[in-house]
Amino acid sequence: MANPRKHMVNNQVISNAAKVIQKGGVVAFPTETVYGLGADAFNPMAVARIFEIKERPAFDPLIVHIAEADGLGLLAEIENKELVDKLIEKFWPGPLTIVLPKKSSVPDIVTSGLSTVAVRMPDHLVALELIRESGTPIAAPSANKFGMLSPTLASHVGKQLPHVDFIIDGGKTTVGIESTVITLSGNGFKLLRPGVITVADLEEVLPEIHNMRENRLQSPGQLKSHYSPRIPVYIQGESAIKGDLGNAGYLALSPLQNTGEYQLSLSLSTGNDLREAAVNLFSALHQLEESGVKFIVVEPVPETGIGMAIMDRLRKAAYQYK
Ligand code: AMP
Ligand code: MG
Repeated sequence: MANPRKHMVNNQVISNAAKVIQKGGVVAFPTETVYGLGADAFNPMAVARIFEIKERPAFDPLIVHIAEADGLGLLAEIENKELVDKLIEKFWPGPLTIVLPKKSSVPDIVTSGLSTVAVRMPDHLVALELIRESGTPIAAPSANKFGMLSPTLASHVGKQLPHVDFIIDGGKTTVGIESTVITLSGNGFKLLRPGVITVADLEEVLPEIHNMRENRLQSPGQLKSHYSPRIPVYIQGESAIKGDLGNAGYLALSPLQNTGEYQLSLSLSTGNDLREAAVNLFSALHQLEESGVKFIVVEPVPETGIGMAIMDRLRKAAYQYK
């Protein structure tokens, strides 16, 4: 696995990209989760271009990325500093997004008019240097067309978004799925989106108040259909598979024997490792999408720990093909 603390991107590239951000442009850049499509969070016109390029509906708010914990105070009202400090100390930089009441200086377009803002500090040197050099927090959703597969390679970005002002190629992302999103409540948290930081990880720091998976309305981004390849996805045992398996791709957690009936079979992990599966999830779906298979059948993974985030993404990819 690449070490995100030692990046191979030339400093000149980062400084050129930072100039693009400062001028109101849009830059695709690597983070540890997936590639982001970033603009100056305080420049509403620049942020509007993110929505335009992604064809993202205006009701789906963006995550604002910062490079220093101090930057949080510029964006959010920190009502319970003790809780926030505990989370920051344990999980930042890292794939945890915290939703907090927003400062009025944060443009409404960033938060889709909500009174809250989602913030995180990515654990990726390229992303951190880009934010620092730009001298401003960077609002960034994933660098894909709305609803389609998230990018874990720079080439995935180029494929879906040919009109981005600048793409920084930092190689394959090391976590592979989007951040865990939480909101704070009392002395605990609510889960808005599962990720590789699990409820159990968070519960070591704060008690979980209520699992938002059963109460979906609070986060506009919790759409039922999302993260979809251009071809149908069926989850084995959950959806009625339509079509000839000889034209299909198969995706399993671990290498399986006897998948010869499928046109192409891929596995997400060499063993049974859910973290490795998360890293490879979107690149495997991109590969199947590009391979010419007509549809994809996926073997469900156990819904424990990181498996919960993987199944969240797969169910959204498969939602319209039940
Ligand atoms: P993306 O950056 O494409 O992975 O999407 C960011 C996701 O973060 C959104 O789709 C929402 O689910 C969530 N999010 C961002 N801002 C907020 C907010 N203010 N309140 C609740 N959820 C948010
Ligand atoms: Mg996204």
